[in-house]
Amino acid sequence: MTTLPLQYVKGIGPKRAEALAAEHLRTPLDVLNYVPRGYVQRDTVPTLHALQRHLTESTLWVEHDSIDHGSVDHDREISIIATVVDVAERVIGKNRKMLTATIADDSGVVARLVFWNALAYYKRLLVVGATYVVSGKPEFDGRYHHLTFSHPEVERIDDDDIATYRNGAILPKYPLTQGLRNAGVTMRVLRSLVDQILPDALQQVPEFIPDDILRAHSLMDRAEAYRELHQPPSMDAVHRAQHRMKFEELFEFQLFLARRQSEHKTPQKGLTMHPRSPHARALIERLPFQLTSAQKRVIHEISNDMSSGVPMNRLLQGDVGSGKTIVALLCMLNVVDNTYQAVLMAPTEILAEQHARSLRAWLEGTDITVALVVGGQTKKQRQEALQQIAGGQAQLIVGTHAAFEADVTYHRLGLIVIDEQHRFGVAQRAELRRLGIRSHDGEHVVPHMLVMSATPIPRTLSMTLYGDLDVSVINELPSQRKPIDTRVVFESYLPATYAFMREQIAQGRQAYIVYPLVEKSDKLELKSAVEHHEQLQSDVFPDLRLGLLHGQMPWQEKDQVMRAFLEKEFDILVATTVIEVGVDVPNATVMLIENAERFGLSQLHQLRGRVGRGAHQSYCFLVAKDHFRYQMRRNTDPAEGMKAAVRLRTLERTTDGFEIAEVDLRLRGPGDLLGTRQSGLPEFRFADLQTDGELVQVARTEAFRVVAADPQLRRPEHAALRQQLISRFEAGTYQTVA
Ligand code: ADP
Ligand code: MG
Repeated sequence: MTTLPLQYVKGIGPKRAEALAAEHLRTPLDVLNYVPRGYVQRDTVPTLHALQRHLTESTLWVEHDSIDHGSVDHDREISIIATVVDVAERVIGKNRKMLTATIADDSGVVARLVFWNALAYYKRLLVVGATYVVSGKPEFDGRYHHLTFSHPEVERIDDDDIATYRNGAILPKYPLTQGLRNAGVTMRVLRSLVDQILPDALQQVPEFIPDDILRAHSLMDRAEAYRELHQPPSMDAVHRAQHRMKFEELFEFQLFLARRQSEHKTPQKGLTMHPRSPHARALIERLPFQLTSAQKRVIHEISNDMSSGVPMNRLLQGDVGSGKTIVALLCMLNVVDNTYQAVLMAPTEILAEQHARSLRAWLEGTDITVALVVGGQTKKQRQEALQQIAGGQAQLIVGTHAAFEADVTYHRLGLIVIDEQHRFGVAQRAELRRLGIRSHDGEHVVPHMLVMSATPIPRTLSMTLYGDLDVSVINELPSQRKPIDTRVVFESYLPATYAFMREQIAQGRQAYIVYPLVEKSDKLELKSAVEHHEQLQSDVFPDLRLGLLHGQMPWQEKDQVMRAFLEKEFDILVATTVIEVGVDVPNATVMLIENAERFGLSQLHQLRGRVGRGAHQSYCFLVAKDHFRYQMRRNTDPAEGMKAAVRLRTLERTTDGFEIAEVDLRLRGPGDLLGTRQSGLPEFRFADLQTDGELVQVARTEAFRVVAADPQLRRPEHAALRQQLISRFEAGTYQTVA
């Protein structure tokens, strides 16, 4: 076993070893894990001429308007090989210095390299007449006809390198920081370091995926995969090595989920709820509508879970407006009829208040008390609610996080329902359950848990994120719903849109106008709700009643406004995105969203979901600036302009939340979509949830099979697997959840 510190490796020494240690590269194994972020290879290195043509064509392509998907990859790093023909330093403005270098290859086109930082370093590195690998994201400025790389990665290559490269060798590119560069750790040094440590380090890489799985899926073994990543004989070998690493990551994570699920299932004792529920039955009879068959089905699934004696751990997915609240309430009543309490938790105070209000309305005339616990309450209100909860007089509790603070003691908590689950993380879900357990005076029984989400999570993601949950889907909207008519309008058409809104209001309907910000922001020049509320009221709709709702208002005030809107005291509600989540006013049929190009796709879908909740035809107007179309072509950041266009068109085209979520995932990537940190997803180095959906499925099947056969991973052939999971936990890769 080698524990040779890196400083003794030839060409490293104490100074470079220190710089490497600063990047967490201390041992040969660390170096092994420092996998290349790309490869330079003859077939994929374009000439400057080809690059320029590619960039000008893709601009043309945008203008041709063929932007159905967000699939254009503007972010790809490109490597080229070229010779420096000129280096110049310039002073810009007062003290700002800039270094430019001109590079050329045999294709007759030149490009500029631009540097703003570490100029001394680059001045030394860039020598006229020398040849370099330049990697970065090139930009083409059509006005000046310039091909430019800002702060590219530059590596000088000598004749030997050029010769091997011309022979078809593949050069790995390692991530280099300025710290490494300053210490003289160049790409060459890294490659030579890898050459030296690789034979020994590979000996230390244990395989942990069971043999039969490797064979069944023709996966490379682990040591081989590392070798191919660092010293690939071909790009095909790189791809197979990457495939193996993807599988490894996904398999490991699915194994973690499978273990967690099996722990949930086996040892814990749940509350057995008798499915008979007079309160639920009576409510169903009082409802002004028929439950959809999807609603009935999921209620059945939930009540089966709750009567099984095992704690329920279920995700209820249903698009905006599919009627999740009534499902939750009916299940909560089932719990109440079993003499337990049920709590419904919402991510915002407005939504909690709205839920409390609708639950109370639905339960009017019954013996059931609903307590509300939110942050903005007075001491007295809170005390009263807490007493009712602790004493058991309140059977149903609605609240925000405040309902789980230390001073809240539940009498007999049987069910926790979390609404808009995507707003909470995996860890929080586990924490709530723990609190639920604590609340059972001494008796360690786990309450049932139902999490609801309107954000339709693409399948690959839900398998990954909620892999430990059972899933119920409401895949049907109430029958009388008509699809929301959605249109992108430009600002100059606003008067016509306002006139349309007026007509709707004359027919007794109501409308929302949403602005992105509360106060005018100089920086973004976005319209603000406050300012526009005034202007709309005085100039556009002087004869109508306009309400205002924004996030800076105290909770009681927000609640008052919402209540007034629900009771038709306002015709139009001017609001910020505080209304995004869950707000339910079925009489509202027009949603107008200003600066729509600035909003994310899921957010727009959520906002749009505030209308189309009743029997009337509803409309959504996505207002974009007039020059937006123009911007789309001429934007300095074409990717952004285009993504916005894709978002708006997707909404025009469909109201299907799942389809929208898939597009959103493509546009933004999963980390951004859910917030990697809060979502509890580990950061995968190889796997890409957007494109590796099938592999997720394969890894999941295998992982669950392993855990079903050997829940504790005690079998000798699973020893390495077990060890691997333990080391991951120690490294904090996965959040430890109950
Ligand atoms: P979401 O699933 O977005 O939370 P809600 O539970 O707020 O949706 O329901 C949206 C609206 O639809 C509410 O006004 C609710 O009362 C109503 N609703 C629920 N189920 C039905 C149904 N089966 N038929 C008609 N309307 C329904
Ligand atoms: Mg809801």
